[in-house]
Amino acid sequence: MTETTPPQTLAAALQQARQQGVDRLDATLLLLHALGRSGQDRAWLLAHDADALSEDARVGFTALVARRAAGEPLAYLTGHREFFGLDLQVDARVLVPRPDTETLVNWALEVLPAKPHTSDASSQPWRVLDLGTGSGAIALALKAQRPQLQVQGSERSDAALAVARGNAQRLGLDVAFSQGHWLVGVQQRYQLIVANPPYIASTDPHLLALRYEPLEALTAGVDGLQDLRAIIASAAGCLQAGGWLLLEHGYDQASQVCHLLKAAGFKRVQSRLDLAGIARCSGGQVSDLGETASQ
Ligand code: GLN
Repeated sequence: MTETTPPQTLAAALQQARQQGVDRLDATLLLLHALGRSGQDRAWLLAHDADALSEDARVGFTALVARRAAGEPLAYLTGHREFFGLDLQVDARVLVPRPDTETLVNWALEVLPAKPHTSDASSQPWRVLDLGTGSGAIALALKAQRPQLQVQGSERSDAALAVARGNAQRLGLDVAFSQGHWLVGVQQRYQLIVANPPYIASTDPHLLALRYEPLEALTAGVDGLQDLRAIIASAAGCLQAGGWLLLEHGYDQASQVCHLLKAAGFKRVQSRLDLAGIARCSGGQVSDLGETASQ
């Protein structure tokens, strides 16, 4: 069979995708998508790979494979991405949620009370704010894990907000999403503020590999720290006494982010490792007496 012969079976279609440089798992998930099946049906595909490929599915699959081979994220092609056990709908309006960001969620769950989800001082639910929420991944994961938290997500991009709200609605999670740029104009105080802001330097060559994703969700000035600086500078004024600020950042930014946090008066400044063992998140706590004072 030559490369241009249309594949007759599901197995042949997969093989052709592999020859175009698409990895096995991605090809499998794209074929299931072209067949109108869920990504859960991988076992079905193994058992049916000698089945005939319909013309419609072949045309759809060929187009998906070409887009994947050109570098488009799998999640944009299938329209889904799993994050912290949640099935999120994603498209080019939002950054694709990364497994590394689960580090931030795990850390947030550590600092939040497990039960009864209220602060000691009052019976009010703890308030959590996710800045630059994008698809809503972090905010929705926290709400799913701790239903009694009062979770808000803010986002500058209206297009991304629509994705986050759609995810909340589909998942039946009560998260309040609103338009906003970091902490500008925020009046309330929170027990926890989390963010996965843009943190890639605007000249970083890695951006080429990320060209399908929204640039404004990725880059932050010449050193990648512009947005992290803005958040750190204003967060203490938006945190309750003893509240935490937890931030994701670039693979080589932990020491700079820790320095910025300390300079802003945060206590217990520390970092957490991602799945690759890289210090990927840093954070700190405002003192129990309230707002930090730079000393
Ligand atoms: N971690 C992502 C990447 O390097 C970037 C996410 C971000 O800028 N917040 O692919």
